[in-house]
Amino acid sequence: MALSRSARRSSRWLALATAVASAATIAAAPAASPGAPGIGDPYFPNLGNGGYTPLHYDLGVSYQPDSARLDGRTTLTARATQDLSAFDLDLQQLTVDRVQVNGRRAAFSRTGDEIVVRPARPLARGERFAVTVVYHGVPKPLSGPIVFGSQYGWMKTKDGVFVACEPNAASTWFPSSDHPDEKATYDIRIDAPKGLTGVSNGRLIASGERGDRAWFHWRENRPMAPYLATATIGKFDVRTGTTPGGTPIYVATDPTLPAGKVDVYGITAEATDYWSKLFGPYPFETTGAIVDDMPQAGFSLEVQSKPAYSAVRSEGTIVHELAHQWFGDSVSVRQWKDIWLNEGFASYAQWLWGEHRGTTTAHDAFRKAYRAIPADDAFWKIKVSDPQRDTMFSDAVYERGAMTLQALRERIGDRAFFRLLPAWTAKHRYGNADTADFIALAEKVSGQRLGDFFHTWLDTTGRPALPGE
Ligand SMILES: [Zn+2]
Repeated sequence: MALSRSARRSSRWLALATAVASAATIAAAPAASPGAPGIGDPYFPNLGNGGYTPLHYDLGVSYQPDSARLDGRTTLTARATQDLSAFDLDLQQLTVDRVQVNGRRAAFSRTGDEIVVRPARPLARGERFAVTVVYHGVPKPLSGPIVFGSQYGWMKTKDGVFVACEPNAASTWFPSSDHPDEKATYDIRIDAPKGLTGVSNGRLIASGERGDRAWFHWRENRPMAPYLATATIGKFDVRTGTTPGGTPIYVATDPTLPAGKVDVYGITAEATDYWSKLFGPYPFETTGAIVDDMPQAGFSLEVQSKPAYSAVRSEGTIVHELAHQWFGDSVSVRQWKDIWLNEGFASYAQWLWGEHRGTTTAHDAFRKAYRAIPADDAFWKIKVSDPQRDTMFSDAVYERGAMTLQALRERIGDRAFFRLLPAWTAKHRYGNADTADFIALAEKVSGQRLGDFFHTWLDTTGRPALPGE
């Protein structure tokens, strides 16, 4: 995620606030028991669900821009990881009409943002099952301090909807196990009034028209965290092709946006190919962009395979969101406190882009950023390895995270550093990882002990010394 400068400034010094809630722990029992309502992420205790592993979502959403009504049908295929008498799905706001498990009507109830599903017969550990939820309602965006006071999630535009859900808004438009540690593959079918285009992740499998409606069937064949899914709808000019490196590209642009100086298609192609040289093979089947007109969203998001921009954004933002395809989308956080593994790396990539362009070096960019922030500034009071929920997107997570990587590069040398980045994306490709995993790999690749180094940069507050000083 990249926030516009003004949005970041205005909310930079949010008070620290910790969501303290204990995840329910379920005692092991010989009989089938309910799955836990969350996976135990301290920032979002009820997100994700226990007792099963999601495998594949088949999402169907039909949208009426006039009334803002969404009619949805989601089938999640999953595997039980315990004997299950009941299990949860995350769903905010919307009304559930009916639930089936393996084609049979299942009982369900709502508790807060959880649907509790009770299948007609218990599910056995290891059993593969399909749960279908038919639902409807008018999705509302979320707001609050987390994303800098900006609204996020399912956001109505003048011609449709702009959908960007980090960190916890996927469950405002489809029932899911809404945590990045719960990845699955997706088929996403969008139905909208004729004349509008539905844009989603991965490849466009088929599209067509039926009466006064248009439909689009997208498939994301690589594992994806729910917050990276989209079903953005609107009037779009679509340009497709292939990058010089051979990756298919799909760029959808709102035709009412003023033509800016930034060539989104060209930079997307160039950055996808260049990052593939630095970070390892591009992890997804397609690359691209969704460029919409959504002024109320002060951010852009690394939607998987097609970053979503709420306006025509800068070259720096585009290369940032594309770097996230490796750092965040393919290699995802295990818990939200690991967010610097996304934002620190994508921000560092912007310095690497400066080197690629010959406009700056990461060495100089690091020192410029460091010296611009006085030692007593609140910036240095955030603990990057655990920034707390309501400040998880604070400047320090981005910039001190990037500084950490440049300090690491100066410590272990270019050779080890540029072996480490592709080693990281290869080792955890399509998976989840945490800060301890990164430190372990950095030590292995460099042959150095780096515990004290990372402790200073990530686990302590206060301004660390510049390397060599
Ligand atoms: Zn970002």
